[in-house]
Amino acid sequence: MILVINSGSSSVKYQLIDLDAPERRVTGKIERIGEAGSDVPDHEAALKRVAEEVAMDSGELVAIGHRVVHGGPDLTGPVLITDEVVQKIAEAVPLAPLHNPANLAGIEIARKMRPDLPQIAVFDTAFHAAMPAAARTYAVDREIAERYGVRRYGFHGTSTAFVAREAARFAERPAAANVIVLHLGNGASATAVAAGRCVDTSMGMTPLEGLVMGTRSGDVDPGAIFHLLRAGLPADQVEEMLNHHSGLAGLCGDNDMRRVLERVKAGDAAAATAYGVYCHRLRRYIGAFCAVLGKVDVIAFTGGVGENSAQVRRDALGGLEPMGIRLDPMRNSGGAGDAPRRVSADNSRVTVLVVPTDEELEIARETSAVVARTKSQ
Ligand code: ADP
Repeated sequence: MILVINSGSSSVKYQLIDLDAPERRVTGKIERIGEAGSDVPDHEAALKRVAEEVAMDSGELVAIGHRVVHGGPDLTGPVLITDEVVQKIAEAVPLAPLHNPANLAGIEIARKMRPDLPQIAVFDTAFHAAMPAAARTYAVDREIAERYGVRRYGFHGTSTAFVAREAARFAERPAAANVIVLHLGNGASATAVAAGRCVDTSMGMTPLEGLVMGTRSGDVDPGAIFHLLRAGLPADQVEEMLNHHSGLAGLCGDNDMRRVLERVKAGDAAAATAYGVYCHRLRRYIGAFCAVLGKVDVIAFTGGVGENSAQVRRDALGGLEPMGIRLDPMRNSGGAGDAPRRVSADNSRVTVLVVPTDEELEIARETSAVVARTKSQ
């Protein structure tokens, strides 16, 4: 049994997974950490609750896998957590101030609870570490970029790796497929994968870059930010605005795509604008990544929006028949479930799939692989 812990700023999610029977798993979520009126004052209390719910002292537990958002420049693959690794995750806090501190809190408490167990960190940035320099590098002053660590990292890597592999397998091109993964949840990213390796991704130094998201802006001209700073808005407020009051929420007040679609249907103009900007940006990245890859075998949709919204898939891909992309309207609007499914037409050169993501299973697999490697050394 492997315990997967995703320790966020206000919640701790966990799954207890047996890799021999991953469909039977125990899952749970401790919410409202540190909020007024909550009986979970801090991460220590939350992890204690997890320990009670999953019998963390059980002898069946062989390892704990922790989701960590940012591995910084050095942690480019899943690793056994040591004091040195904890130090490196702490050094990456300035790169992910909203996420890494909570991830670290979970790690430190779990290590205190089960110092005997191997604990593994699995990074959202790791899959993108293979990105070529041309895609990873911002065209800014080199010395300053190096001194301050300004470069592109990419996120959603664990989900993207899982989906790209499932998609390639489904398309019966397991080793060689060129895949565009569109992870559309609250956060959203597009990634170009060639034969299992990331060659470009839409998120950058932070998860702010790229697609329009629930509350994040995605791409904005940096000049607009200086304009706001010079107009007197404090930097913290601009950052807060771009992360929490932008994207769909910024444009129409709702970050939930289901609500946005309901309002579009009812003729709401602000929701229609938000939806239009969302789909336009998505098409722009799909086009860009078709060019980056040259030849695309599979486009895979995942995440709450990507898996469930036939309308978003249709509006992202409609009219792209000249690029070899043709949806089948019946397949696109039907079906559900946990298995990958084809939504493209039989005569579509590019296979379009819906691939439900399973980040926790991927973390459990990575955790198990690191444990096996460590043992054999
Ligand atoms: P997170 O990124 O927080 O893990 P999810 O991947 O669950 O989030 O995605 C959440 C998003 O998925 C929300 O915007 C929600 O509205 C959207 N979503 C879920 N079901 C549907 C649906 N049937 N149609 C459109 N959007 C949906």
